[in-house]
Amino acid sequence: MKKIILTGDRPTGRLHVGHYVGSLKRRVELQNSGEYDEIYIMIADAQALTDNFDNPEKVRKNISEVALDYMSCGLDPSKSTLFVQSYISELTELTFYYMNLVTLSRLKRNPTVKSEISMRGFNTSIPVGFFTYPISQAADITAFKATTVPVGEDQLPMIEQTREIVRSFNSTYDEVLVEPNVLLPDNQACMRLPGIDGKAKMSKSLGNCIYLSDSPEDIRKKVMSMYTDPDHIRIEDPGKLEGNTVFTYLDAFCNDEHFANHLPDYSCLAELKEHYTKGGLGDVKVKKFLYAVLMEELDPIRLRREELAKDIPAVMEILKEGSIKAREVAANTLSEVKAAMQINYFE
Ligand code: ATP
Ligand code: MG
Repeated sequence: MKKIILTGDRPTGRLHVGHYVGSLKRRVELQNSGEYDEIYIMIADAQALTDNFDNPEKVRKNISEVALDYMSCGLDPSKSTLFVQSYISELTELTFYYMNLVTLSRLKRNPTVKSEISMRGFNTSIPVGFFTYPISQAADITAFKATTVPVGEDQLPMIEQTREIVRSFNSTYDEVLVEPNVLLPDNQACMRLPGIDGKAKMSKSLGNCIYLSDSPEDIRKKVMSMYTDPDHIRIEDPGKLEGNTVFTYLDAFCNDEHFANHLPDYSCLAELKEHYTKGGLGDVKVKKFLYAVLMEELDPIRLRREELAKDIPAVMEILKEGSIKAREVAANTLSEVKAAMQINYFE
């Protein structure tokens, strides 16, 4: 069986370092490993509209922003198909047929959707499109017969829902769809990177992000304002690591080489943590180190991004070509699905 990747992002804003450590960096490694037969990276504009239907300008504007983030991180259009979800109308058709295979109570149980509903203040007026987006996500994944979906932890319930739909479809009709496997980050800190405010998740919708496109000065300000241990007031005080965002970011980003380059008094993160918890190490010193680490990783990305941003029509052309190619694949799957469901009357 072919090894196929599908993953993507909502064009609700530029991408941030949570995306980078949670998914983007891994995608680039998987792409360059040469182990996958096909890689599809989707800009999920139709999904973004489910909770931004009244703000189409925002979604439109962020199509090229997300594409720039992709390519500046190393996603290469000659190896990965970059495409726009709404161009593939076959995905909407698949969603409609899959809706028959999912119950309302099953949708209501989805913990990520539950927390997103309360975060967006939808409460009693939940748009049906938003509520059912896990089904449309199943369509995205299965249309490409993806075997592997590299995502952050918040996406686990969506992949589980997809697997259930696949099993239900295949047993009701015919063995057409492929059950995907999730690929989570292997580093705990990258599963769900917190925001700079210490909130559970860095998220475009919460405005607590360090963006890949932020200037060094913006990043410095954000790092310096980051949430640490509120009880760590004087340098001599022992500091807590739990819930300390600066250390979570170091867990996600730094390696021993960073110490050799930027903080040679320590050989590794464990040593720095030990000093912090014992007392005698100030937040400013740790933040300055984090800033240096982030710069080392993000500087080349930002510079590539600035280059690519000079030719937006070329970026849009790449997305168009990718969308045409992706559509053919989705159309093939849709034909198989319709044949299995016996709704191919004229063939
Ligand atoms: P929105 O607020 O519009 O939902 P988002 O910031 O949650 O935006 P998505 O486009 O929903 O971003 O997520 C894209 C991918 O990035 C998913 O695989 C998701 O798991 C991953 N991801 C998003 N935020 C984080 C984070 N803070 N840490 C790790 N992974 C993340
Ligand atoms: Mg999200």
